[in-house]
Amino acid sequence: MNYISTRKLNKDAEGNTSAFVIKNGLAPDGGLYVPESLPALDQATIESLIGMTYPERAAYILSLFLTDYTKEELLNAAEAAYSKEKFGGPAAPIAKVGGDYFLELWHGPTSAFKDMALQIMPRLLSLSLGKTGESRDAYILVATSGDTGKAALEGYCDIDRVKIKVFYPVNGVSNIQKKQMASQKGNNVDVVSINGNFDDAQSGVKAIFANDSAKELLDKNGYFFSSANSINWGRLAPQIVYYVSAYCDLIAEGEIKYGELLDVTVPTGNFGNIFASFLAKKMGVPLGKLVCASNKNDILTDFINKGVYDKRREFFTTTSPSMDILISSNLERLLWFAVGPESTKDCMEKLASEGIYSLSNEDMEKIREDFAGYACSEEKTKETISNLFKEFGYLCDTHTAVAAYAASEYKKGSGNKMLVVSTASPYKFAPAVLSSLGEEVPGDDFDALDKLFAVTKTAIPANLANLRNAEVRFTKVIEPSEMINSL
Ligand SMILES: *Cc1c(COP(=O)(O)O)cnc(C)c1O
Repeated sequence: MNYISTRKLNKDAEGNTSAFVIKNGLAPDGGLYVPESLPALDQATIESLIGMTYPERAAYILSLFLTDYTKEELLNAAEAAYSKEKFGGPAAPIAKVGGDYFLELWHGPTSAFKDMALQIMPRLLSLSLGKTGESRDAYILVATSGDTGKAALEGYCDIDRVKIKVFYPVNGVSNIQKKQMASQKGNNVDVVSINGNFDDAQSGVKAIFANDSAKELLDKNGYFFSSANSINWGRLAPQIVYYVSAYCDLIAEGEIKYGELLDVTVPTGNFGNIFASFLAKKMGVPLGKLVCASNKNDILTDFINKGVYDKRREFFTTTSPSMDILISSNLERLLWFAVGPESTKDCMEKLASEGIYSLSNEDMEKIREDFAGYACSEEKTKETISNLFKEFGYLCDTHTAVAAYAASEYKKGSGNKMLVVSTASPYKFAPAVLSSLGEEVPGDDFDALDKLFAVTKTAIPANLANLRNAEVRFTKVIEPSEMINSL
């Protein structure tokens, strides 16, 4: 399997292996890597996956895309990534809530769905170094506003031939997030807080990536810079697995028969998760409509419904912060499928220079065969959390609530069964969840965790329950200007 850039006009000019694209992340022309063709999953194959464990399913699906990795490497990576020890049970269990299915992707070590990709991607990166003949080790730099940093630290912790340093704004993350990062274990990790905001941290990391003398110094010490960015194919490919796996599980549990279309609703930010569902569908998993759920930042809803992507709009901070986004990078990959490299390049250049692009009605009709878009207000988010808990005793987080609301809006016109993708534990967003339930919110985040437990009697994820007493390892605070010298 070879990979090409979404902006490259001449397919034949490239021939990049998966190890190469995982190591490099972004294509040299600024495009994203996509597989040249999609492997097919027919009925017999899907049925053969039913009897397998999640890691076995993952190794099989990944082997179709990462053809330069051996089956044994992929199975070892998947078993280490999705172990019972890390997920407390099956990696992607399904809860039946009313007539819908909630695919819970947050049972990993940081209680959010980023773990599904970040637990395995570092292992794939580590293996890619040998496969591409890279003699240096990878030095991962991350600027985070909270969740991605912790998920990356957990994923890269003690992985061979990689080290990771995470920068976060000292007053820009919650106390829980701060404690999660400051107490990170592992011999190849470092965590530094910045006297500034998230933009300062991000600009600092970008400046380091662009700095030639920093690169030279690193090179001399046997390292090269790398990023844990969500546009990396190594983060996207593992996300296809849980859509295939969910379809298998629903057959196994007698909830659906093979061939029955299953609609999917995904709470969407950067468009990575929902794009993985699109790939699963195109490979042959009988999925119906892919419902793209947005919060008050409804740029994707507008795009799907009107055919215009316009980022020149107000940015809102909401209670579902991982979806507060105006540029959904992975949408570029869908454009490539829908309109090809030439128009994709055009759209991306227009987005960069004018902040807006549009597609023809004909192109949009094609996209709407697979996708629908709905947005959910802050008020409806709260209401949905409260209703699901009152009606079914099911507690969900704010991001999942956005999806549950979008699913219910979409379902008014469809008869298929619905898979709602649940992306975070409610405990990860305890204050907002408590407030949705009509409870007073304690000032201290840790008290909010305890109170959510007292009120709902739902299980607290172990990583959050143990956090209050976790030992702090990292306390350094520096100025943004000192970031480059802290390497
Ligand atoms: C990252 C994230 C999302 C958005 O996923 P994308 O792949 O960026 O669309 C949704 N919910 C949670 C909790 C997340 O962490």
